[in-house]
Amino acid sequence: MCDHTTTTPRAEGEGPFAAGAAEITAGRRTLLTAGGGLAFSALAGLGAGEAAAAAPRRFRDRRAYVLVVDGCLPGEIDGGLTPNLRALRDGGLRWPRATSLPVMETIPNHVMMMTGVRPDRSGVPANSVYDRRERQVRELDRPSDIKVGTVIERLNRQGFRTGTVLSKEYLYGIFGGRATHRWEPAPIIPISGHAPDVFTMRAATQMVERFDPHLMFVNLGDIDRFGHTDFTGQTVQVLRRLALAGTDRLVGDFVAMLKRTGRWRRSVVIVLADHSMDWSRPDRVVSLQSVMDDDPLLAGKVVIADNGGADLLYWTGPGDQRARAVTRMRTLAARHPGVLETHDPRRSRSLRLGPEVGDVLVYCRAGWRFSDPDPFTSNPIPGNHGHPATRAIPFFIGGGHARVRTARRRSSPDQAATIDVAPTVASFFGLRGAPRGGYDGTARL
Ligand SMILES: [Zn+2]
Repeated sequence: MCDHTTTTPRAEGEGPFAAGAAEITAGRRTLLTAGGGLAFSALAGLGAGEAAAAAPRRFRDRRAYVLVVDGCLPGEIDGGLTPNLRALRDGGLRWPRATSLPVMETIPNHVMMMTGVRPDRSGVPANSVYDRRERQVRELDRPSDIKVGTVIERLNRQGFRTGTVLSKEYLYGIFGGRATHRWEPAPIIPISGHAPDVFTMRAATQMVERFDPHLMFVNLGDIDRFGHTDFTGQTVQVLRRLALAGTDRLVGDFVAMLKRTGRWRRSVVIVLADHSMDWSRPDRVVSLQSVMDDDPLLAGKVVIADNGGADLLYWTGPGDQRARAVTRMRTLAARHPGVLETHDPRRSRSLRLGPEVGDVLVYCRAGWRFSDPDPFTSNPIPGNHGHPATRAIPFFIGGGHARVRTARRRSSPDQAATIDVAPTVASFFGLRGAPRGGYDGTARL
């Protein structure tokens, strides 16, 4: 559930873009303009293309570009509409069994990419959670929501330049001012909270040409956006196909720029999705709020954060009734048509979701979606993710760097995951150290 939310509406002057503008006004970041009306900002005290003098000489020439093709299905790369992505994959290293990790939503998987740790350590298990302190359901879109260091800050500290080019407002929000260089999409972003890929890739290209970051992290949101509005009918399938072809062309242009400017042989291009996509008919909706409120024990004491294919249930009643309440919530949810499974995240340790995910996690079956608290208005969009049907993702590493060119195994049976991006980037740049407790992911180069 990327472009749709049940959270409390924001007043004007609040939210991630307003916070970003305030950082610039306060002098914590410097506004840098570039051509075509694009704006970027840099950490205060850092000039436009300032050299990373402290970066180790051996790694200083290297470049890593992480392109997230939001919501792309692995099979779509073979559908004939994405020749540039396919060429990157087939000329590089690939992991056909790669997956998104729970909860299969946009924000937690982007955070896993840059932290290399699971949500029980990062503090970010879903897009939308119930914030017990603030007593409201909200998106995790604040810089302070990430509780651990990212590979972005680790690179900064070791003298590298980093760039974020994030097409979605909440991603811009949660990654905040971490990168040395950041795209400021606020002036051109449409009201949907998502910038079209044509703007995002123009910004990415200018970011490279102007500031030349060692690591650049890019989110391309078009395919996901058209996935959400896909009613599985003819017209909308055409829209998704257009989005796939359009994004692919932009990726092709980006690769051509890397080659033209001599960066290609020094670069790796990591391409993956944060989750895939599943579609549901209007009659295949699970709404659990009224089910909970009809129960004498649970009435008025369960808050639900809807994440499209996953519902997060929070017990707000007395602590000594929690165990009973969890059992009851799971029993009632499991009976509902369209529910795949329920979990008590405190007991299902392998989920590794941490306390922010709430007391019960409910997944829907393929072809269904959640709409909570309201069965009609909370989530009217047919395309969703968050549930196990949306785990499979494309994951491949292209580029002209020797680490890609000379690798012997081109296709790996290993189950790579979003969480592997940070350790892969760290290994590529020879970064010293690791997060306390180590990475949960694996370096794939
Ligand atoms: Zn996404």
